[in-house]
Amino acid sequence: MDVENPVSKSQFYKKWIDSFQFVKTKKTNSFSKCTTCVTIERLMSKTTSFEIRAFYKKKKEEHNIRQMLERKYYYNKKDQAQRNPSQHMSIIIDGMDQAKTNLPHFAGRNPKVG
Ligand SMILES: [Zn+2]
Repeated sequence: MDVENPVSKSQFYKKWIDSFQFVKTKKTNSFSKCTTCVTIERLMSKTTSFEIRAFYKKKKEEHNIRQMLERKYYYNKKDQAQRNPSQHMSIIIDGMDQAKTNLPHFAGRNPKVG
């Protein structure tokens, strides 16, 4: 593979059509998004007002900071548990993508809460 001289975007698409038409891309992103992010992005897309967009941008930044602090808190607790396992225990629970199992599941996409 020639990583120094990659093909152009148009060459890539031509090759795709000519030789790899059977390769399809998913229309939706497989990474689930949190309800807060989706809501803020939706509200932001509905307005062209600079002030309102700035307000939502600030809300998004506050939300991202809060998420970052929660991750930081989690990593700190995880480190404590690794350093001193007789005193601390760390457990993380996350929802699994049920689309890859044969188990009964909710139809449609459910946003992550948080
Ligand atoms: Zn979010």
